Amino acid sequence: MKIAVVGTGYVGLVTGTCLTEIGHNVTCIDIDQNKVNKMREGISPIYEPGLDELMKKNIQEKRLFFTTDHNEGFEGADVIYIAVGTPEKKDGSANLSFVEQVAKDIATHVKKDVIVVTKSTVPVGTNDWIKGVIQKNLVNNVKVDIVSNPEFLREGAAIYDSFNGDRIVVGTDNEAAANIIEEINKPFGIPVFKTDIRSAEMIKYAANAFLATKISFINEISNICEKVGANVEEVANGMGQDNRIGSQFLNAGIGYGGSCFPKDTKALIQIAGNVNYEFELLKGVVRVNQKQQEMLLNKLEERFDSLEGKKIAILGLAFKPNTDDMREAASIVITKHLIEKGANVVAFDPVAMENAKKILDSKINFASNTIEAIKDSDAVLILTEWNEFKDLNICTFEEYMKQPVIFDGRNCFDLVEVKKHRVEYHSIGRPPLI
Ligand code: NAD
Repeated sequence: MKIAVVGTGYVGLVTGTCLTEIGHNVTCIDIDQNKVNKMREGISPIYEPGLDELMKKNIQEKRLFFTTDHNEGFEGADVIYIAVGTPEKKDGSANLSFVEQVAKDIATHVKKDVIVVTKSTVPVGTNDWIKGVIQKNLVNNVKVDIVSNPEFLREGAAIYDSFNGDRIVVGTDNEAAANIIEEINKPFGIPVFKTDIRSAEMIKYAANAFLATKISFINEISNICEKVGANVEEVANGMGQDNRIGSQFLNAGIGYGGSCFPKDTKALIQIAGNVNYEFELLKGVVRVNQKQQEMLLNKLEERFDSLEGKKIAILGLAFKPNTDDMREAASIVITKHLIEKGANVVAFDPVAMENAKKILDSKINFASNTIEAIKDSDAVLILTEWNEFKDLNICTFEEYMKQPVIFDGRNCFDLVEVKKHRVEYHSIGRPPLI
């Protein structure tokens, strides 16, 4: 199969590369020339464990190609994947302008029958609209079928997930097209769930909204735990052992971030609103998440009379570990607030520093390692649960900080272990150790 993938972000580049790994011939198209130049040399523009190696191997074996030229990229393609961004608009709805541009590019350039597969997360009804845009603008007399194939990979584990996903959702009104997409994916050995287009589109939003709900739920439980003297980790553990509930997504913290949950929850609220349905539960989930980011700040401000001139160390900037993605990271809101309060903020993240420097306040100082960040600090805030931080010996805080006051937004440390040290430790949903 000759495949084109449009958009080489976290989804497009991983999808394209993994499709070559199972034997397909893939050309990835992106409008960003710098990215394309890098990728041609086997260098991934994003941090994703294992991606560079797979890219290099498949470039060498002449299965993986990159271009900015849609004409070249679509040449001879049997299947075109759309994997461009669908960011949030001001009103919370999904911005489909990138998808629309790709649909027009497809219409202009395809010269043979083709299946268009939408990987981007798009509101219900969008695939029908994409088909309409393509048909309206078609230059050549060719047949275009459309398939909704939402993506479920997790940044930081994207390669693993591509080969070990729980299911591949294929939504289409054309059985032959569904069978071809199933055949393409067969070597992954992952069950294929075939359904209609609109249900496939809804599955993606419903799945993300459900996971976000689990996170906000356990965060609310954690806030109550703090007031009634319970320990949320014990509670989550006891709850998660019930198979009907499951143990995943029950880690209390400072809320979800990233490029998917925040925008997809708001988009689903909009999708419901468009048909005059008020999604009350999901609105609550979003509100709880916004509030949760402030919880750690409230604790910090209760502890210090003023933050003016205090050295506050931030460990972790990315929205979660094993990624350099800063989109909607809690660190954005938290560091902005600290700067407003006059704190001297020194931050460190193992891989997200370059992206962070582009978007965070210019007053923030960036350290080159953990020790440099925490040295002589008045308090440390842990915002991302990188292993590098979880593996820290608590003695390090005692040794290097001006006073060892830790606000752990990700519950990185075991309370029993922390108790052995002379540190002040505030975490989420667990009793403080003072
Ligand atoms: P991204 O922003 O990282 O990448 C999008 C890429 O598309 C960019 O490289 C951009 O230059 C390129 N692009 C934009 N317009 C283009 C055009 N006309 N032609 C060619 N390239 C173009 O996005 P992402 O995080 O990979 O997400 C892509 C989609 O997948 C979104 O809809 C997202 O919601 C969904 N998704 C993302 C994830 C995730 O973890 N990031 C997971 C599942 C689904």
